[in-house]
Amino acid sequence: MAVNRAPRESSRGGPKRQHRKVCSFCVEKIHYIDYKEISRLRRFVSDRGKILPRRVTGTCARHQRPLTTALERARAIALLPYTTEQH
Ligand SMILES: [Zn+2]
Repeated sequence: MAVNRAPRESSRGGPKRQHRKVCSFCVEKIHYIDYKEISRLRRFVSDRGKILPRRVTGTCARHQRPLTTALERARAIALLPYTTEQH
């Protein structure tokens, strides 16, 4: 197995620190993700209706799962579209 050695970023580059993405549900202290809150859920799906991975949205592991459930529920009752393939 070839190991790709990525040089570790040193702190010599300056004080610029990457903004850490935080889970919006944690920030808002939301424990239950309501599938009827489409305006909120829409931020977690792509314009094609795909559920965005959490590295994109910054959702933590604890909230990603109920979020996925909520999104799927919203789809099931047609609040959100299923992945649309446009030709
Ligand atoms: Zn969270």
